Amino acid sequence: MQSLTVGVLALHGDVREHVEAINEAVVNLKISVIVVLVRTAGDLETLDALIIPGGESTTLQKLCEREGMFQKMKKVKNIFGTCAGAILLAKEVLHASEGQKTLELVDIEVDRNAYGRQNESFEKVIKTELGSMNAVFIRAPKITRVGKGVKVLARNGAEIIACEERVGGRYYLATCFHPEYTSSTFHKYFLKEALRKR
Ligand code: GLN
Repeated sequence: MQSLTVGVLALHGDVREHVEAINEAVVNLKISVIVVLVRTAGDLETLDALIIPGGESTTLQKLCEREGMFQKMKKVKNIFGTCAGAILLAKEVLHASEGQKTLELVDIEVDRNAYGRQNESFEKVIKTELGSMNAVFIRAPKITRVGKGVKVLARNGAEIIACEERVGGRYYLATCFHPEYTSSTFHKYFLKEALRKR
């Protein structure tokens, strides 16, 4: 049986839901996965793949910097970022906080908090390249520019809300919504890509 070591950044945000979605995806994929709750730079070293959960992107950045993880995260070959995690992956951020930094791994521009405030959060059925699903948007960003190498995986009307990019031997997946609350489809897709790109 093939195996993967998958980290979930566990300093802040919706960690448990991602672990549950990974476990559900694994049942369908018939692979063995070791899940690592990533809290230190050392935890990053054995990973085949990393999931960066939603939460708050500047808080995530600061906690990662405090732990000396920020630059080391860039070495992980396969990364899936949801919501704040997608912001962390983006090369450019509109409405960034003062001094906000990202990993600058994916050739996209994201508009932070583009759907309004926390109480304007919503849930809706969206069409994606992976099928229709119920998607939860919590103070979500929009993807406002994608580079040539980026493939769009979902839109909300005209707005881009999920994409992927392959760069050399690396693979990145970003969603503005939170697939981990409603489905394991994106996790399954990510794990399959990670298996290929080890
Ligand atoms: N608005 C948040 C940020 O800028 C992201 C929200 C989320 O991850 N649900 O980081």
